[in-house]
Amino acid sequence: MDFKKLYINGSWVEGASGTYIGVENPATEQIFAEVPAGTATDVERASKAAQVAFAYWKNVPVSERMAYMQRMLDIFTTMKADLVQVTIQELGAPVQFARTAQIEYQFTRIQSYIDLAEKAPLEEKLPQSTVYREPVGVVGCITPWNYPLGQIVQKVVPAILMGNTVVLKPSQYTPLTAFYLAEAFHQAGFPAGVFNLVTGRGGDIGDVIAEQDEIDMISFTGSTPAGISVGRLALQHLKRISMELGGKSPCIILQGADYERAIRMCFNSIFLNSGQTCTALSRLLIPYAHKDEIKQLLCRIAKEYVVGEPTREDVQLGTVASARQFKTIRAYVEQGIRQGATLLVGEVPQKTAVGYYVKPTIFTDVTNDMTIAREEIFGPVLCVLTYQTEDEAIRIANDTTFGLSGAVWGPTKAEAIRIARNIRTGNVYINDGPRDVTAPFGGFKESGLGREGGMDGLLEFTEPQALFDAGEIG
Ligand code: NAD
Repeated sequence: MDFKKLYINGSWVEGASGTYIGVENPATEQIFAEVPAGTATDVERASKAAQVAFAYWKNVPVSERMAYMQRMLDIFTTMKADLVQVTIQELGAPVQFARTAQIEYQFTRIQSYIDLAEKAPLEEKLPQSTVYREPVGVVGCITPWNYPLGQIVQKVVPAILMGNTVVLKPSQYTPLTAFYLAEAFHQAGFPAGVFNLVTGRGGDIGDVIAEQDEIDMISFTGSTPAGISVGRLALQHLKRISMELGGKSPCIILQGADYERAIRMCFNSIFLNSGQTCTALSRLLIPYAHKDEIKQLLCRIAKEYVVGEPTREDVQLGTVASARQFKTIRAYVEQGIRQGATLLVGEVPQKTAVGYYVKPTIFTDVTNDMTIAREEIFGPVLCVLTYQTEDEAIRIANDTTFGLSGAVWGPTKAEAIRIARNIRTGNVYINDGPRDVTAPFGGFKESGLGREGGMDGLLEFTEPQALFDAGEIG
């Protein structure tokens, strides 16, 4: 794969700047690939191509768009080995996790969107009118580094299925899977301009995308501050915006629940991807009366997690994504200690000779006003808080500016659901319930605007148009 080109208007082309951004492997600290440092000129070219393509693509029947996408998926799945390899290299993701959650799950997700597209309610008869769901137009997609392919799929696939065209800017830290996706779109024979890829830094071209005249909608996933900045620019032109932002998600263990299973589920969330998951259950709320028993379990189960080279099959935590992320996590751990939390498991991250490794870290004696309980650390750092009553647990869980995800473990499913209905987040896991790819996904409060996933994720990229045609009655 030639990573030094951009994909614009159906062709691989040189970037305007002639300069490149190095992609570092966080486990070897080597630059192993380079991608074009995109500029405003590249964004303009891609957006104009997408605008021209939109005039045609919006009129292609959904069934044909689905057939194009199915062809793309069939080609894309043959690239699996390369996709897994670059995800290990650019993210430091351990091989097992890279293979399953980072890549295979994304194939499932694409298939799910294709299957759902057929059922999208794109035409609705009202008593005196017919309401059509129109595509929004050209969608600028800006994505983060933590699930490089997943966050791209969540935007690009539903947007194109619904008749939009796309300009994608992946994270400059993990841009490589997007090149395989572009090649799969190319080989599937999509009309030129339907999908365009421009790589570059957020500060250089993220803002440009947000303000570009030809772009009608911005679909952004990333940190809350960057989302607010991009959203502000886009709203100056009243572009549609869809935002998937940060989280500080609570996991409540109710008294009498199966503590061991609950802790395992919480660990599988907060230690997954070395804690670099937007939905990571980073605040564990436990009943005060059972804190000693639960602390013992935390220590015992945490020992099972293997940190090591991402290429090893037995490893659960590879490196964190970058030197920048390593320093951020270290600063938070130091701050947690300074503010009086107790380090039950783990240590202040120590730099090894090569690679940015952070061990599972658990703080107890955390209060919800501490910085480590309020801000998104984005590392394998769990804050344990105690509560005396269920009302207090709910209050602590909701006492955050975020509202992305959460979990409740109860002695019964019904008791967990009763508490979950009071949690102000877009998703709540109930006991060991798995994630549903067809359900809407997104955040309350400062965790975002809009939804991805399932039918809501498809309709996010449409606008209703009502024709007053006297409807059914006429
Ligand atoms: P980030 O905000 O730094 O970057 C995200 C994207 O925006 C990148 O492509 C980046 O180049 C671009 N960007 C950054 N600053 C910009 C600016 N000022 N103007 C325009 N574009 C800009 O986020 P990140 O560090 O890549 O990712 C981690 C964050 O993403 C975490 O906060 C995490 O919770 C969030 N996230 C949310 C979801 C979700 O679905 N809610 C999913 C994954 C990640």
